[in-house]
Amino acid sequence: DATVAAEPEFTPPTAKKPMLLCFNENPLGLSDGAKKAIEESTSRASRYPFAQVGAIKKELAQYMGTQPDNLLLTHGSAEAIRASVEAYNVPGKTVFVYPELTYSDGADVAKRNHIPVKTVKMGPNWSIDLAALRKLAAQQAKSKHVIVYIVNPNNPTSTIVNTQALFDWIKTKPKNTFFILDEAYAEFVNDPSFKSAGELIKEGYNNLVVLKTFSKIFAMAGMRLGFAYAAPAVIDNIENHVAYEVMMNQATLAAATAELKDKEFLAKSKAMNDESRKILLATLDELHIPYLPSETNFVFMDLKVPLKPFADRMKEEHILVGRPFPPATQWCRVSLGTPDEMKYFVQKLKEFRQKGFI
Ligand code: PLP
Repeated sequence: DATVAAEPEFTPPTAKKPMLLCFNENPLGLSDGAKKAIEESTSRASRYPFAQVGAIKKELAQYMGTQPDNLLLTHGSAEAIRASVEAYNVPGKTVFVYPELTYSDGADVAKRNHIPVKTVKMGPNWSIDLAALRKLAAQQAKSKHVIVYIVNPNNPTSTIVNTQALFDWIKTKPKNTFFILDEAYAEFVNDPSFKSAGELIKEGYNNLVVLKTFSKIFAMAGMRLGFAYAAPAVIDNIENHVAYEVMMNQATLAAATAELKDKEFLAKSKAMNDESRKILLATLDELHIPYLPSETNFVFMDLKVPLKPFADRMKEEHILVGRPFPPATQWCRVSLGTPDEMKYFVQKLKEFRQKGFI
């Protein structure tokens, strides 16, 4: 199919063009349809994108099974995180609660806004300890406003939280508590027990926002588009903290609009990720390297030796793996590349084992 990108041709990595297994990007690249749409969008580059923003919001609402006023476009989900935290910050009275091992953007935004942050320790196998989070949030909410930030599936651990326990908590509508659910990787999940917290928004809950991105399954990390999904009043509140929603650029809107309609591309993106994961996990099993059950486009594995020398040696092979994620200092986050890239990577893992590095 002409609209589905062919898998990029494999060439061994070099110093100039290393294999990027470090940022959880989509190695498939933009769909051909999106590339064409970007070219066509240049004819509109001198015009404000009022019509295009309206059109993509309709398209996105359909894709999400919701209404346009439940959605806010943002520059990557990074902007959605920032705007959501700032929108629910009652200055001097807010505390930001999150698990110790997670994506750091939310806490970084909180700190920049002088919001005290409080973490809970991880549970077994680096799981998010929802019960402990809930307890901490409840304690804090007695005298403070609480923002709870949960990444699900989580980064860097790749695992999901128990849907029932999460939904039960949000549904109790704890006082003074607002939930930010970062679902950047939800489209990669295979576990049938997973549900997007978007379901709660459909049920009318207004104590949460779900954040999504075009950077992962849509392969548009360089184009910068994300969105917030929430009750219209929540969206209005968050919108007060972005510059101007219609200021998305024409090229990004064109690419995203093309891909939203391209079910085949999204299916291919998911299928390729599943195939790449399989290749990696087969070798990890063979080498007896433990890993967490991955529901994302990356795998978190236990090297049982410090990460730094391993990452440095991989770098010498022109392969970049994830940065350190303390306190999991012997764990390595490997983003899934194309199947060909993973075949090359597992070969290196086997060599490393032979050399006694891992
Ligand atoms: N949230 C999570 C959990 C992420 O891992 C990332 C990026 O890796 C982001 C948000 C931000 O992504 P973007 O701003 O590209 O949407």
